[in-house]
Amino acid sequence: MLRQASLFEKAPAIKIKPDFRERLSLLSRDSRFDLAGSCAKDALGQGRKRGPLGRWLYPVVLPNGRRMTLFRTLLSNQCYSDCAYCPLRQERDFPRLSLKPEEIAEAFISLWRRKIVHGLFLSSAIFAHPDQVMEKFIAVARILREKEGFGGYIHLKVIPGASEAAIEAAAKLANALSLNIEASAPKRLACLSRTKKFEKIWQGLSQIKKLKENFSFSQTTQFIVGAAGETDAEIIWQTEKLYRQLKLNRVYFSAYQPGLGREDLPGEHLARQNNFFLREHRLYQVDFLLRKYGFSAREIPLKDGFLPLEKDPKELWAESNPQFFPVDVNRASYRELLRVPGIGPTIARRILEARKEGRLKDISSFFPNNKLFRKAFPYIKT
Ligand code: SF4
Repeated sequence: MLRQASLFEKAPAIKIKPDFRERLSLLSRDSRFDLAGSCAKDALGQGRKRGPLGRWLYPVVLPNGRRMTLFRTLLSNQCYSDCAYCPLRQERDFPRLSLKPEEIAEAFISLWRRKIVHGLFLSSAIFAHPDQVMEKFIAVARILREKEGFGGYIHLKVIPGASEAAIEAAAKLANALSLNIEASAPKRLACLSRTKKFEKIWQGLSQIKKLKENFSFSQTTQFIVGAAGETDAEIIWQTEKLYRQLKLNRVYFSAYQPGLGREDLPGEHLARQNNFFLREHRLYQVDFLLRKYGFSAREIPLKDGFLPLEKDPKELWAESNPQFFPVDVNRASYRELLRVPGIGPTIARRILEARKEGRLKDISSFFPNNKLFRKAFPYIKT
């Protein structure tokens, strides 16, 4: 705590105080650097759009599959932390701004009443002790829940180092809590930040998991992909651990964007740096295999620790396991059907349902398009 206190003193001072609208617009824009969200497109700066009064709106898919538009902003971009991948890090010199809880609540409610947004995603740089930042999040949520009667979706970030009491207070008000793990291992996080500690973040994630026994909210986290020079294998193993041990609802991946971080970051110099977004995409495909398709981390095809970028990991698995195919669509279990490229949970369920009516001779009509059917065709028999 003492160490953090001295860092706060060094936090860059607020240099300008533009009017509320401009602050909101800028902080809402800056929230794109802090994703932990639900929309992989955010990392590319796509998907989001500028709403009324310059506020950024983010279409997202929640862990339960529900789609909605979120109003997303930072409370502040003033940060005492030193995350080397983040353009908001302490050492950088640019205008630092903050919003008051009442200002955020007022802006959100006006958009929500006009049905422009459905929920709020609130995050912040670390401008004070973690509990003080959490206090502001909680103040916003309290205004919305208790004063404005808002019963919809609120996602709050958990600041690394926040106390159990602060996390619990947030859990009582939020539909979702996220604490970003950032890196795949202690040594990788040490390469990204002197202030964030892997063990502490894991401890925070465990505390959040425990709170799920008493409160109803979903728990998510996020990796920065490529910044620390980690392999995909490291991220995949850690992702599996997060799902199995900590029962996370979703793990997100955010491609490091070269040029935004410190020059000495491994991610700045990796030959694969132009492929971070494709790596992110392949990791999302793996995430689906782990979460929805019954794959384990050790089954994911890798080359020298990385996901081959040229092909879908499920197709690569099918190509390297010919003994598993062809799958008989009239006899296969749900799990076996899910191993077929082109067949996902929806199609697998359709097949099982249709089998109750009799033997299947042609399943092409179960596929939403011909391309998907052609993908599955070499791997099935009727
Ligand atoms: S804590 Fe790290 S990632 Fe978050 S805003 Fe500060 S420097 Fe950026």
